[in-house]
Amino acid sequence: MQCPFCRVDDDRVVDSRSGDDGSTIRRRRECLSCKRRFTTYERIEENPLRVVKKDGRRVPYEREKLRRGIEKACWNLAISAEQIDQVVAAVEGEAFEKFDREMPSNFLGELIMRELRKLNHVAYIRFASVYKEFKDVSEFMDVLEEFLKGRGKESQAEIVKHLANQVKLDNAKKPPNGGKPNV
Ligand SMILES: [Zn+2]
Repeated sequence: MQCPFCRVDDDRVVDSRSGDDGSTIRRRRECLSCKRRFTTYERIEENPLRVVKKDGRRVPYEREKLRRGIEKACWNLAISAEQIDQVVAAVEGEAFEKFDREMPSNFLGELIMRELRKLNHVAYIRFASVYKEFKDVSEFMDVLEEFLKGRGKESQAEIVKHLANQVKLDNAKKPPNGGKPNV
């Protein structure tokens, strides 16, 4: 912290205490250059991270919303709550490191897709199909093709079979809100 008297940025904290309502911390500091003392206050950032939507609207970042989107993509699959937590943590870790005030919603979407792709191909395709808002089957096929690239013939056939079964399952038993991710 830069000293308000001599402007040197070199101090030590001599005392820290919580404000009356617990929302601030007051620190008494001593400048190591001029030895004078000054006070700083620390409080929770009042302007938290915002997500910039495609249409330019800004909405507060909500972990619950992110998690719900991922849960919907993972619905009815063999994916544990702990694995979903790990996806949330990986996405947040990278997003928070890169942005501190505003972040584009598509950055979050791409991160989620990357993590789901590692986790489960059905969850990945489901999330991608809603997130990318495919206009027609060919767009969907492009993503599917890209996803299958580099995998052996057997594993490709396995994935396609699994996806086909999943579509049947999904149609038979829709989640309450139609399974749309909220990102
Ligand atoms: Zn000073």
